[in-house]
Amino acid sequence: MTHNFDTVIIGSGLAGLRAAIEAAKHGTVAVLTKLYPTRSHSTAAQGGIAAALGNEEPDSPEWHFYDTTKGGDFLGDQDAIAVMCEDAIRTVIELEHMGVPFSRTAEGKIAQRRFGGHTRDFGAAAVRRACYSADRTGHAILFALFEQSGLQGVKFFDEFHVLDIATEDGKCRGVIALEIKTGEVHVFNAKATLVASGGYGRVYKTTSNAIASTGDCLSILFRNGVPLQDMEFFQFHPTGLYGLGILVTEGARGEGGILINGKGERFMERYAPTIKDLAPRDMVSRAIMTEIREGRGIEGRDFVYLDLRPVKKEILEERLPEITTFCRIYMGLDPAESPIPVLPTAHYAMGGIPTDSDGRVFRDEHGAIFEGLFAAGECACVSVHGANRLGCNSLLDTVVFGRRAGMEIGRFLKTAERKDIGRDLAGRTEAALKAVCEKKGREKAAVIRNELQKKMMDECSVFRHKEDLEKLVEQIRALEGRSAEIRIKDSGKRFNTEVLEAIELTHLLTLSEVISVSALQREESRGAHSREDFPKRDDANWLKHTLAFKTDKGVALRYKPVSITKFQPEERKY
Ligand SMILES: Cc1cc2nc3c(=O)[nH]c(=O)nc-3n(C[C@H](O)[C@H](O)[C@H](O)COP(=O)(O)OP(=O)(O)OC[C@H]3O[C@@H](n4cnc5c(N)ncnc54)[C@H](O)[C@@H]3O)c2cc1C
Repeated sequence: MTHNFDTVIIGSGLAGLRAAIEAAKHGTVAVLTKLYPTRSHSTAAQGGIAAALGNEEPDSPEWHFYDTTKGGDFLGDQDAIAVMCEDAIRTVIELEHMGVPFSRTAEGKIAQRRFGGHTRDFGAAAVRRACYSADRTGHAILFALFEQSGLQGVKFFDEFHVLDIATEDGKCRGVIALEIKTGEVHVFNAKATLVASGGYGRVYKTTSNAIASTGDCLSILFRNGVPLQDMEFFQFHPTGLYGLGILVTEGARGEGGILINGKGERFMERYAPTIKDLAPRDMVSRAIMTEIREGRGIEGRDFVYLDLRPVKKEILEERLPEITTFCRIYMGLDPAESPIPVLPTAHYAMGGIPTDSDGRVFRDEHGAIFEGLFAAGECACVSVHGANRLGCNSLLDTVVFGRRAGMEIGRFLKTAERKDIGRDLAGRTEAALKAVCEKKGREKAAVIRNELQKKMMDECSVFRHKEDLEKLVEQIRALEGRSAEIRIKDSGKRFNTEVLEAIELTHLLTLSEVISVSALQREESRGAHSREDFPKRDDANWLKHTLAFKTDKGVALRYKPVSITKFQPEERKY
C-alpha cells in the first residue's frame, strides 16, 4: 500500500512526538512506530528533566551550560549546548502547560532535585536542577505529548517496522515499512522524513534499555551513506540492578543515597571529593569498576551497594516509588531496610546521526546537508552531550531539538516538493525482506545476538584496550558472516517476530562494528571512552568528533572540529 504525507516521523518517543506536534502546524504528519506509541523507551525515563528554573535554590542557564560542557569532557558543541540550556526553562514550562503532572514544592512550584554533574557557581556544589514527576518523569511527559499530538491530527501507524529509508542523490523521499500485524509492506512518500528512533543499548548484554532499542534506523541510514558521529561514546549508568541491568535512577543519589564498597566505605569521597556520589556517570562507573577490580566489591564479588537507608522512608515512597517497587519485585528487598546490589549498565548513546541544532542531517564533515532528512532525540548527535551525557539532559534534548526539528520542517515544507519513492527501490526492499523470511541456514539469530552482546560487554564497555578492540572487530565480522546463515522457522506473515529479530540483529551487528572501530581509533580517554592503554585525555590530537562512513572496504573514519564558544577545555575535577 502507498501513503502520501508532507512529513513522516519514525518514532513515537518524546523526540518524535514533540516534532510531530510542531510539524502538524505545517502539513500532514504520519508517525510510524514499531511499538504501541506509549511503549517507546522514553516512558521508562525515571529521574527527571533538567532546567535551571531555580525553584528550590539559585540556578542559572549559564551554570547549566558549563556543567553540560564539562560533563561531556569538552567534546560537546558549545553552540548547540547553549541553545539547549537557554531553551530549557521555556521547555519545562511549556510541558507543564501541556499537562505534565510535575512533582511540586510546598509552595506549589515545580519541584527540583539534585542529579549527577549539575552544580552551582561552576562546580562549587551540587544544585537542584532536575524537574521530575516522582520517578516516572518520562512516562508523564510521553502521555502528555501523545495526547497533544492526537489533538493536532497526527496520524499514527502503530506497529509498523521501518525496513528502509529512501535516499537518492543526497535527498530523502520517505520510508518503507512492514505492517507487523499483516506482514504487508507499505510505502510512505514524504517531503520531509524525521528519524527519532531512539537508542541502541541492546548492543550490550547488560543494559537499562528496552528490548526494542536496537538502533535500526541509524544502521539503515549508515548503509545509505549517512555518517554516524562519535559512536565510541556509550554511557554506562553506574546503578543498574545487579544481574539485571534494570535502572535505579540517579535521582536516588540525588535524594541522599550513597554508594558503598565491600569495606563499608563511601568510596566516591576519594574520586570526587566535592560532589561525591553525584559526580558524572562516566566517573562513577569507572570508580565502581575500579573498586571491584581492586578487590573491594561486596564480599570481594563483582558489585557494590547503593544504600538508600539515609533517605527518609516517606521520600522513598513519594519521590522514588517506581524504583522501590523494582527492588521489591526483582531483588526481593526493601531499599528502606537493605542496601541494593548494583553494577554499571549500558544506558545511553552519546553518538548518532550528525545534525545541526535544527535537526538537519549532515552528509559529511564539511557540513553538507541531506535534503529532506531530519533527526532528533537519542538517535541524533547534535552534539550536546559530548563524550558523556549528564543525567536529565536527554529528556531535555529530545523535547528542545524535537521541537526545533519540527519548526525547521515547517520552513522546509514551504518550498519542498515530493518526489515519490521509485517502484525499483520498494521492490528491492521487498526482495530483501523475502530473502530473510526464506533463510534456511543452520544458525539461530538469538544465539548470535547473545554472543555479540556478551563480546561487546567484555571488550568494549567501561574500560577498553587496543588488543581487546582489535579482537572484537574481528569477532563481530565473524558473527556477521554467521548471521548470513540463519534459519527462519516461522513461515507466517502475521506478527512474524522471528523475522523482525533477524533484521534487528543485522542492525546490532552494523552498529557494534562502527562503535568498536571508532573506539579502536580514538587513542585517548575522554568521557565514557576510557582506554587503559591511553589513560589521559589528549586535546592536542583528539579534541574532535569522529564521523564513521560505510565504504566497500568497511568502516572509514573521518574527523571534524568541536565548536568551542565559551568554555576552554580544563581538567575535570569534581
Ligand atoms: C531506564 C531509562 C531511564 C532513563 N531516565 C532518564 C531520565 O530520567 N532523564 C533523562 O533525561 N533521560 C533518561 N533516559 C534517557 C531518555 O529516556 C532517552 O534517551 C529518551 O527518552 C529517548 O527518546 P527518543 O524519543 O529519542 O526515543 P525512544 O523513546 O526510545 O523512542 C524510539 C521510537 O522509535 C521507534 N522505532 C525504533 N526503531 C524503529 C523501526 N525500525 N521502525 C519503526 N519505529 C521504530 C520506536 O517504536 C519508538 O517509538 C533514560 C533512559 C532509560 C533507558
